[in-house]
Amino acid sequence: MKRRYDLGEQPPLGTIPPRMLAAVVRPGRFGPPRESLAVEEVDTPTVGPEQVLVWVMAAGVNYNMVWAGRGQPVDVTAARRREGNPEGLHIGGSDAAGIVWAVGERVTGTRVGDEVIVTGAQWDERATDIRLGADPTTSRTMRAWGYETSFGGLAQFALADEYQVHPKPATLGWADAGCFGVSAGTAYRQLFGWPPHQVRPGDPVLIWGGAGGLGSMAIQLTHRAGGTAIAVVSDPRRAEHCLKLGARAVIDRSRFSHWGRLPDTGDPAFRGWQLGVRAFQRAWWAALGERRDPRIVFEHPGQGTLPTSVACCEPGGMVVLCGATSGYNGDVDLRYLWMRQIRMQGSHVANTRQFRSVIELAGRGLLDVCRTQTFPLAEAGEAHQVLHDGTGLGNLAITVNAI
Ligand code: NDP
Repeated sequence: MKRRYDLGEQPPLGTIPPRMLAAVVRPGRFGPPRESLAVEEVDTPTVGPEQVLVWVMAAGVNYNMVWAGRGQPVDVTAARRREGNPEGLHIGGSDAAGIVWAVGERVTGTRVGDEVIVTGAQWDERATDIRLGADPTTSRTMRAWGYETSFGGLAQFALADEYQVHPKPATLGWADAGCFGVSAGTAYRQLFGWPPHQVRPGDPVLIWGGAGGLGSMAIQLTHRAGGTAIAVVSDPRRAEHCLKLGARAVIDRSRFSHWGRLPDTGDPAFRGWQLGVRAFQRAWWAALGERRDPRIVFEHPGQGTLPTSVACCEPGGMVVLCGATSGYNGDVDLRYLWMRQIRMQGSHVANTRQFRSVIELAGRGLLDVCRTQTFPLAEAGEAHQVLHDGTGLGNLAITVNAI
């Protein structure tokens, strides 16, 4: 057996070389993805009793690796050191597709040779809160795979728990299969995971960042459920992308300037903010074609948009948020919240059933995974830079062993 295989070479099924190639973040190399991510040779992980080792064919591009490379808000390399990796090497990546290469002795649901999609959330199935019935994504043991844990998808071998691996639909090629799980699963949970605020036929849904990874999934899921998706974008190319996916209309956010933190209610600038929100609301009504507010606001930009999201939401509706690309200080004029009895709901990745649902939709051709660009592993930093710069559309993929 060779000590390490090159990308494009394949060891015999089940043969595990001691070393592998991986895109890693290491201490002292924090910064934008282009600088922080580099391919290095590292030790291949060892499979534990309930784990699965996957020969990764392709992986996804998520913000998790942007945050990891930045060292903010969490220094993942310090976490890796605490876990016993003396160099603090972080092997990230929260989406992958590949072939099962080894299984732990207690694994029963998957076998060596299975083609699988690996989904990006981990928890301890024996945790007390899960045993008492908690949704695993709310468990105190929940971890974002490839961010809060190492040995994610951006390597020749990835280490996952058994429940993370799902059969890869034969209709999806490797790059498609590896690129959409986190985006689609997260969007699905936001739109269908919080009853009674699940998208119903006729519901207007405001989708921020409609041309991005999450947004591209959210438009389609809303449309397929009979809802009316109105997407927000920042340029005509992104508008066209959203309309092709089924958005009824788009709003270009570059036409407005009231974004960012809410001015103090006693400040004269507050009036300017209110006028900005009203102008946005008029644009929303024009886009929808009726004077009705969104029943669900699909949030993830955070600081820049949250004040508007709350002010625009229909009475009794929900603002559902899974991230804060533009900053963590999400201001709310509380009067909107209580007078209109709006629900603000945090949402984080997806549970096993939700992940499986989007994989099946994609497998049946009912959800376009929206892979718009594909990069080799050597360009993992460049791929994440596209995400960081907000210049990409839909989901991006990285081919690992499937070169
Ligand atoms: P993308 O970059 O693919 O898409 C985000 C889109 O948001 C951009 O395309 C941009 O579109 C829009 N956007 C960016 N900045 C702003 C802003 N200041 N105001 C309004 N819109 C803005 O990213 P993803 O869809 O992959 O992820 C989005 C966020 O969701 C990230 O913060 C990520 O960390 C988080 N996330 C959280 C998950 C969870 O489970 N908690 C899972 C997945 C993602 P445009 O310029 O056209 O408006």
